[in-house]
Amino acid sequence: MTPNAKSTTHSSRGAILLRGFTRRCPRCGSGKIFRHWTSIVDDCPRCGLHFERESGYWAGALAINFVCVFGLMLVIMGLVLAFTLPDVNVALTLGLMLPVALLGPVVWYPFSKTIWMAIDRAYLQRMDRYEQPDE
Ligand SMILES: [Zn+2]
Repeated sequence: MTPNAKSTTHSSRGAILLRGFTRRCPRCGSGKIFRHWTSIVDDCPRCGLHFERESGYWAGALAINFVCVFGLMLVIMGLVLAFTLPDVNVALTLGLMLPVALLGPVVWYPFSKTIWMAIDRAYLQRMDRYEQPDE
C-alpha cells in the first residue's frame, strides 16, 4: 500500500461519491483510471485498488446506466407532453428521445462504473459486517 492510499482510507462518503461522479478512483481520487472512454484499467495506477471486486461486479454499473438514461428519457417525454398536450408532437418527442436512447448509454458508461464503485465503497461495503474491506 502506498502512503497516499493509506491517507485516503477513511474518506467521507461525500468525498467518495464526488470521486465517482467525476470518473475518479473512489479510494484515492486518481483521474487516470480509463484507457479510453469505454475501457477502465484493472487496477488504480496510484493506489492499486482492484476495481472489479468479483465476477459480475459491473452489474451494478449496468443498472445505474439504465436507470439514469431511462430516467432522462422519461423527463424529456414528460416535458414534451407538458408543453404540447393535447396535440403531442410525435416527431419532436422521437427527435429528442432517440439520440438519448442511442448515445446516452455510451456517454454515461464511464460515469456509471465509477459511481457504482463509489456507492459500493461508501455504503455497501460498510453495511456488511462480514465484508472484507479491500484496503
Ligand atoms: Zn486509486
